[in-house]
Amino acid sequence: MKKRLEMLEQLQEIDYLIDNLKTARNGLAEEMSGIEQALIEARQELAGLEGRVAQIEQEKGELEISQAAEQENIRRSETNMKEIKTNKEYQAVGREIAAARKQAAEIEEQTLQKIGQIEELNTEIANRREILAELEQNTSQRRDEKQAEIDKVQQDIDTDAARREAITKELPTSLVKRYDALRQQRRGQAVAVARDGYCLGCNMNLPPQLYNSLFKGDELISCPHCQRVLILKLQPAVQ
Ligand SMILES: [Zn+2]
Repeated sequence: MKKRLEMLEQLQEIDYLIDNLKTARNGLAEEMSGIEQALIEARQELAGLEGRVAQIEQEKGELEISQAAEQENIRRSETNMKEIKTNKEYQAVGREIAAARKQAAEIEEQTLQKIGQIEELNTEIANRREILAELEQNTSQRRDEKQAEIDKVQQDIDTDAARREAITKELPTSLVKRYDALRQQRRGQAVAVARDGYCLGCNMNLPPQLYNSLFKGDELISCPHCQRVLILKLQPAVQ
């Protein structure tokens, strides 16, 4: 029975190790996804800018079509003017031409604005592409490094899991089940030290009779308060 108790204690030590390693591994996995996320965001931002430029290019194309139409209107009106007989008609066409020229000037102004925006965005895009290329290179290196760390931790987890399995194979299934259930219920601690009449798992006083029977060490005894399996540890004698 004493042997079983020692094995349970070992099991708990291994489980603590595994818990810590898993926490470390999850942290590393999060860092990894942070690295990936930065790259995804940089790509998305670049794609957004490229989409914006394409949109403005299209708007510029539409303005150029309108401009061509406006210029055609002006030319046609000017041709018509030559055949006009009355002053009244002349004035009317004159107003049409003035309006069309005003319109053409506005379109020209808008087109210039678009060209300016396109130039600005293209400069920004060139910068972003450079940054992205650098990031891609860094990311690939950082990803490899992070993956190596994750693999190392996983290896340790596997080693400890194998040690754990070797121990649980030696123990009765019902005891392992009880241990696992306790660990779940008691924040990862299934085995608690008993000392000076106390359970150090829950810090409650143990009934003297129960505490005394721990000294015999011929059965597994649970704390009546927290149900953890008790293991007797005497204070080391003061030298
Ligand atoms: Zn207890």
